Order: sequence, then C-alpha cells, then structure tokens
Amino acid sequence: MRTRYGASKAEYEAWLQSNGHPRYRAEQVWDALYHQRRPLETATNLPAALRDGISREFPLALTTIAERHGDRGTTRKFLFGTRDSAQVETVLMVSPNRATVCVSSQAGCAMGCTFCATGQAGFERQLDAGEIIEQILVAGHDVDEPITNVVFMGMGEPLANYDATWAAVERIHTDLGISARRITVSTVGVVPGIRRLARESIPVTLAVSLHAADDRLRNTMIPLNRRYPLTELIDAAHEYARARGRRVTFEYACIDGVNDQPEHAERLAELLRPLGPLGAHVNLIPLNQTHDFSGRAPAMVRIRDFAEQLTDLGLNATVRRNRGTDIDAACGQLRERIGTPTPLGPLRAGPGPESSTRMSE
Ligand code: SF4
Repeated sequence: MRTRYGASKAEYEAWLQSNGHPRYRAEQVWDALYHQRRPLETATNLPAALRDGISREFPLALTTIAERHGDRGTTRKFLFGTRDSAQVETVLMVSPNRATVCVSSQAGCAMGCTFCATGQAGFERQLDAGEIIEQILVAGHDVDEPITNVVFMGMGEPLANYDATWAAVERIHTDLGISARRITVSTVGVVPGIRRLARESIPVTLAVSLHAADDRLRNTMIPLNRRYPLTELIDAAHEYARARGRRVTFEYACIDGVNDQPEHAERLAELLRPLGPLGAHVNLIPLNQTHDFSGRAPAMVRIRDFAEQLTDLGLNATVRRNRGTDIDAACGQLRERIGTPTPLGPLRAGPGPESSTRMSE
C-alpha cells in the first residue's frame, strides 16, 4: 500500500491528475511535505477536500505511541507504531545550527549485540524506505530548525536492510536536500554492505560500531564478529575511506574494566593505524546500561584518559556525551520502557536508566 512518505512525486502527480486536479497541485503537495516539512493538515494553501483525499489515499505509515522530551527540550524521543503493530524508535537532537534525526532501519534487530536493548529484544521486521523517511519528517514537524543531519543509528542494522536503507538515503539526499556528508550510516560490521556502500553514488559518512579491538573480546559483544572478524572489517572500512577520500568513524562504547585499559588503547591504535590519522576517527562513548548486560560505563575521567592515550598513540579520538539519557534515548530503551505488546510478546518494563551505545552526539 502506498503511504504519505513512501509515494513518489510521480505517484502523487498521477493520482492528482486522475482526480481532476490541476498540475500545479503536485508541486504544492511536494513542497508542503518535503520543503516546508510540515503536516499535510496544516498546508492550508491546499483545498480541505484535497487534503482529505490525500489523507485517505496516502495514509501515514506510522502512529506516535509515545514522545518524550529531554536535555531541556533539545532531545526528543519518539516511539512509533507501524500499521502492523511493530514498533520503532526515533530521536531528534537539536543543537545550535544543527538538528539531527537518528532513525531506525528495522523494527527490532537480529544482530543480538549483548549490550544493546534492541538486540536483547530481537527482530520484528524490515522497515521500508517510506517508513524511514516518515520518521525524519514527523520528528521534525514541531521544531523550527530544519533537519540538517540524519544518522542511521536507531533500531536495527541498516546494512542488513540494504535496499530500503539505500532507497531512503537517496531520498534524504534528493527530496530533503541533505548533503552526503551529513548522512551517516552506522554498522556493526556487515562487511559486504560496507564494500557495496563504497561503490554507491552518494558518499555518505560511514560509522563502524567497533567497541573492541580484538576478536576474542568482540565476539562476546557482537555475534556478527564471528562471521566478519576484525581484519576483514578493518579492510572493508579502509576500502571505504580510500574510495571516498573520507575518514571512517569508529564508535567505541567504553565499558569499565572490559575495554578501557591501556592495553586496549594500544590494540586499538595498532588495529586502526593502517587507516592513518585522516582515515579513522575514534568516538568514545560511555556505555549506556541495559537490562541484560552487566557492564557499566567507566568514570568520565577514565574515558578522557583513554582518549588521551589514543591521541598519544597517533589516533584521532574524541569523547562524546550521550544525549537523552533522561528519556531512554538510546535504541531499544523506550520500547522496552513502554512495554507495549508486540509480535514478540510483552516487553519488559525496566527500572532504568537503560540504553544501548547509540544515540550520541
Ligand atoms: S547495537 Fe545495533 S546492530 Fe547491535 S543489536 Fe543493537 S541495534 Fe542491532
């Protein structure tokens, strides 16, 4: 079924024409949806009967189940329901000169990363491109700032839903006018997907959720590492950096006593050195706690020391703060907290705060 943000401009044109509307209406509809980025109901330059017709013929794919505001209103988290009752989470983060939407590419996730609330809850289904685009536009409806950045760091592994992710990237680039540099696709290490991405026409920013610099440790956190171990992953990331002439970001969730010791920094530097300082950027994030993972974030001073050590070892490293910890902003948290039944069965209501490693800015 075609949906409001899944339909192409050609589909709107054809429908408007077959219903006897003048040609220019298609431009007006498109302008309201994608340039002014506002709800169709508020596009009062369109006749009310036309708005009603579009609402019936091109319904929204998502309904808002919950919305929370945090970080003094600069972070908003949405829990959306799909038409078949799957649930997805989206986060909007507003900073001066920047409004970033963190989108989900799947409802749930099959990757099973042990530290992640989404991974712990399992997989529901793939999202289509319209559902991904709708998250961005609906999240941006109530804020004055235009959406400047989109990051695929919400629920799901975007490269395990490659076609829909890429179709969404193309539309974010063309219909929303967001530059490639401001679109980030994050992966836990789907190597064939990274290589495919390196050959695409839009040079998006690549982020790799690394979290460990040796296979033995990474295998315990990210099951996919057994299939695509670090040498293959780094090789693919290197290929991406070379093909794009752009550095790759490596996300590293710091876990107290697990991956934050001096020897871990040395291994990390050794692993990423082949990419050179311009090819790799390490983004250190304090681990967000989740129900089923016993790890904890180290003290901030420890994370800063780790960053300093990486810098001394020749890497480009920064410490990022988590956004929205007061509203369960990391992926999988709000769905877990709300505890709405899904095809997977009732979800737990957690005592929190809980989250995964994502949703940082
Ligand atoms: S961290 Fe990402 S890839 Fe891993 S389980 Fe969570 S959502 Fe999936």
